Amino acid sequence: MKICANKVSAALFLFSSLWVASARAQNAADAIDAHLVAARNAAGFDFTGTLARLCVAPRAVPGVLRDEAPGPPPARDTWFIEPAKVFDNLYFVGSKIHSSWALTTSGGIILIDTLFTYNSEEEIVGGLKKLGFDPAKIKYVIISHAHADHVGGAKLLQDRYGSRIVMGGPDWDSIEKSVNGYPAGKPKRDIVAEDGEKITLGDTAVTIITTPGHTPGTLSMIFTVKDNGKPLTVAYSGGTAFNFPFTVANFDTYIKSQSKMAAAAAAANATILMSNHSEFDSATTKIRMLASRKPGEPHPFELGKEAVARYFVVAGDCAQAEKLKIEQQAK
Ligand SMILES: [Zn+2]
Repeated sequence: MKICANKVSAALFLFSSLWVASARAQNAADAIDAHLVAARNAAGFDFTGTLARLCVAPRAVPGVLRDEAPGPPPARDTWFIEPAKVFDNLYFVGSKIHSSWALTTSGGIILIDTLFTYNSEEEIVGGLKKLGFDPAKIKYVIISHAHADHVGGAKLLQDRYGSRIVMGGPDWDSIEKSVNGYPAGKPKRDIVAEDGEKITLGDTAVTIITTPGHTPGTLSMIFTVKDNGKPLTVAYSGGTAFNFPFTVANFDTYIKSQSKMAAAAAAANATILMSNHSEFDSATTKIRMLASRKPGEPHPFELGKEAVARYFVVAGDCAQAEKLKIEQQAK
């Protein structure tokens, strides 16, 4: 009888343990789903590319960051696109995939991001000339982060025009440490951006918001553009994808930065969300739409304050879901 009772209690214990484990797994799965649903709802039709990349695309989980040499340049027709005027004082000199923005001021040009080494000469230098600007007037170059698709033209602009290069401290460090990443030479360490710092040129200032996550030194920004004289505030998000080592700490950093930038965007009444990949802000599509804009129609980049806030919910909740997956796998 005693043996039998022990067997029953062992079976009950096993059953209840399994039940607790499966309930826990179910709760974790529900929590992950809740973040994915929140991100999907926040994305709406405005940020489908960001949602697809962060919440849907298969995970490419980097263990350690590799210091790789750049590959051969891809065919020109895969990246070349004409430059465009987007606001009274903001011009697109990017590629089909990556953005480079020229903010024109009374004191010269502030350039945001510099594409790859292989296409910065044609798109940025050539693009500015096509638009009627002198690239020698680029006084500041703000690099959102030190990946090859954003920092590639920094050395060219520093060497040829003496442009001042602004970057996050940890990203300057990563350039200096890199052995293979800069076969054509590295930009020399210049201005180390501080959180809240204003990069001022003539009548225009860009406020830097440090948003570590995508890289440790990622910079986001707030600045004003004019649409036929009407001032509008841009929240520029400097790093989006999860191509950093998958750790809870890294996701916590990323999530904190999304909240920080959302608060900065709200405080500044930003109604425009810009990024450095068209995948995330549909820049090239909006530029095409702009060409057929009729008088009185809203600017395709002007999404409104509420939509700008939703962008950071997409990034934050996709990151929350990924963080929960890591925690669940560790159990
Ligand atoms: Zn990057």
